[in-house]
Amino acid sequence: YFEQIQQAERLKTTGQMAAAVAHEIRNPLTVVKGFLQYYKEDPDLNGNFKRNFSLMIDELHTAEHVITQFLAMAKPDQEKLTNSVDIEMVMRDVTELLNTYGLLNDNNIDLSIEAGCYVNANHIELKQLFINLIKNAIEASPYGTAVYVTVEEEKGHVAIRVMDNGKGMTQEEVNSLGTPFYSLKSKGTGLGLMICYNIVGKYNGTIKYESQQGIGTTVTVRFPLK
Ligand code: ADP
Ligand code: MG
Repeated sequence: YFEQIQQAERLKTTGQMAAAVAHEIRNPLTVVKGFLQYYKEDPDLNGNFKRNFSLMIDELHTAEHVITQFLAMAKPDQEKLTNSVDIEMVMRDVTELLNTYGLLNDNNIDLSIEAGCYVNANHIELKQLFINLIKNAIEASPYGTAVYVTVEEEKGHVAIRVMDNGKGMTQEEVNSLGTPFYSLKSKGTGLGLMICYNIVGKYNGTIKYESQQGIGTTVTVRFPLK
């Protein structure tokens, strides 16, 4: 538990730092990307240069994406209103958004939801939380396997589980989750879970990972019921 508090503090400081520098970095990036996009279209540009321009633009795009994710987290709290959020609504929104993403690799999202679970939180942040968790589950899943999402009441709490039969993780990998930039994906940012841990902590929730390599992963998020 103490480690969780330490982790939360660390994330808070990181978020504040990021907010300060992110604005300063994003603008020049956008300018440079704009110029590169413009020059890439020059008909006199030879093929090799054109490819290099595309690479540069891609890299800048990734950098922008990292900053945008950071900024979403570092936004001041007063801009995020808290009210009674229906978890069923959140999950329906999220799965609708991610269904097409799952289709790319024939991963269905299988929903099982107990109605009437309300949490004191911000709707957009809860969406962001579950988009990240379900997206990770899909990305870990082999072709054609389902991702199971369940929502149920448990002793004054709502428990939301995201289960996949994907590649799984070692205990060491599980222990690293939530560390900024920790990612084992070639195109990953390693910021998704950091944002998730932050949102869960903010609304007095808990998050727990159970995983076995080669078998799959279950992540359980619990929030106090309203
Ligand atoms: P990203 O998805 O950009 O890599 P995240 O913070 O969302 O960053 O996740 C960090 C890392 O945690 C991932 O790169 C992956 O290695 C691991 N991970 C997260 N969820 C799962 C899962 N369901 N199954 C296997 N590995 C996972
Ligand atoms: Mg992710």
